[in-house]
Amino acid sequence: MALINENFLKLQAGYLFPEIGRRRRAFQKANPDAQIISMGIGDVTQPLAPAVVEAMKKAVEQMGLNETFKGYDDGGVGYEFLREAIRDNDYKARGVDIDIDEIFVSDGAKCDTGNLQEVFGLDNVVAVSDPVYPVYVDTNVMAGRTGGAAGQGRYEGIVYMPCTEDNDFVPEPPAEKADLIYLCFPNNPTGAVATKDQLAKWVDYARQNKAVILFDAAYEAFISGPEIPHSIYEVEGAKEVAIEFRSLSKTAGFTGVRCAFTVVPKQLKAETKDGRAVEVAPIWKRRHCTKFNGVSYITQAGAAAIYTDRGKKQIKETIAGYMANATLIRETLDKAGYTVYGGVNAPYIWLKTPDGIGSWEFFDLLLNKAHIVGTPGAGFGSAGEGYFRLTAFGRPENVREALQRIKEMS
Ligand SMILES: *Cc1c(COP(=O)(O)O)cnc(C)c1O
Repeated sequence: MALINENFLKLQAGYLFPEIGRRRRAFQKANPDAQIISMGIGDVTQPLAPAVVEAMKKAVEQMGLNETFKGYDDGGVGYEFLREAIRDNDYKARGVDIDIDEIFVSDGAKCDTGNLQEVFGLDNVVAVSDPVYPVYVDTNVMAGRTGGAAGQGRYEGIVYMPCTEDNDFVPEPPAEKADLIYLCFPNNPTGAVATKDQLAKWVDYARQNKAVILFDAAYEAFISGPEIPHSIYEVEGAKEVAIEFRSLSKTAGFTGVRCAFTVVPKQLKAETKDGRAVEVAPIWKRRHCTKFNGVSYITQAGAAAIYTDRGKKQIKETIAGYMANATLIRETLDKAGYTVYGGVNAPYIWLKTPDGIGSWEFFDLLLNKAHIVGTPGAGFGSAGEGYFRLTAFGRPENVREALQRIKEMS
């Protein structure tokens, strides 16, 4: 009989969202008239920008004509027109010099953050924050870079860096040596952002320890504070030690369209066992082009439209709408006596559960008393216990109604 890859058997059940769904259905069944509002979704609700829709329509027309039809995107790394727009708008405009050869277009930051570990050896020590976006952890478990379950949803062999009120939800570099460090700012689930000084500490750590930072900037477009870096490459020396992930999913409502990109700078190197330094970018390119055949032309044409003047203005308006929700959630909860974090440079509000009750206990309370579904912090890691995530992606009328119910509850 064929042998299974036993690393997959180490994975603990995808527990969080199925359990939320189970409790929600049970409540709805017992209370068929209750109008449940979801503030737990990590998905956008607003439609694509008109500039994107027009560009995609035009691209479909082109695909239907002999003269303009396109087959495979040569090499699968993304059309030059899109990579140039990314280089100019996401990097050059912020004083960061990135070459289009360092940009790899893909169908999602989930895949990219999950796949990138493949080019690194299995003996690397992985460090993640706690709470964490589960993809970073699970893909390293699948690869065999960890031991078995270590309790509280953790795995042996991974360095967990607690993100708490004490460190403003931004971890310090660990005392132990880590080789592959996943950082996500603005953060999902805590909504925390890292300052340039905080990121600089990480870049220093990586340079001293010859480590690589895998920087997930999927929520970069939600940053409003002028002092907060949008890219880790705004920190001096980061190009030697960091890979950056970006996505159009939350930036431009592409969760159902699928387009993202990863930057692997030419300066970034890793070592062979015998101490020879090798460039990571050509190896990632080899991996990317072997296992992936590119994002559709129609999607890339739509993606490029977010970098036009009209597109920029339209996506900014949508994000401002989500952030108006975030502000309202934050301020209303604060007035109602809750301790709240996040929601300023990120679409996530991380609230402390009242009276020190457990995350799941608060979930049940909110569901039963206010008919609102959120996400228990403990589901993102043990340091998330005692916290609760609300998202700002809802429709404004639902957010207002939900907040009214929470006010009446307290
Ligand atoms: C939503 C999200 C992404 C984006 O994933 P896509 O595959 O591009 O849709 C990446 N990282 C984090 C932390 C996210 O929450």
